[in-house]
Amino acid sequence: MRTQTLSFTTDQSQQMLDITGEIRKTLKESGVTSGVLSVFVPHTTAGLTINENADPNVRKDILSALEAMAPSTAAYLHAEGNSHAHIKASLVGSSVRVFVETGQLMLGTWQGIFLCEFDGPRTRNVLVRITPS
Ligand code: ZN
Repeated sequence: MRTQTLSFTTDQSQQMLDITGEIRKTLKESGVTSGVLSVFVPHTTAGLTINENADPNVRKDILSALEAMAPSTAAYLHAEGNSHAHIKASLVGSSVRVFVETGQLMLGTWQGIFLCEFDGPRTRNVLVRITPS
């Protein structure tokens, strides 16, 4: 199965965008019922994570905690001025994997897949590859 590219446009400088619905749609269209679904973001100032999609305050708290670790306005060496975004992207990581059974993502009840924007707004690519087994 080939890698598929999804495109998302963020609308804030930093945000966690819930992309679970689009990932589920991609899985359904693939026809794969058992295997592993991998998601990868090919960017250095955006990331991917799995976390709670029920209370939106969790996302705000995560972004606040990342901001505390890598403040947007701190003095950095990188001349582009977005070092905080590079650091946050490395902290959350650039990929997630989810098992697939009976055509469904084996996510927990409160879990969602989030594209993490740290230097937006802009358009981001998200790569999806589903490995049947
Ligand atoms: Zn940079």
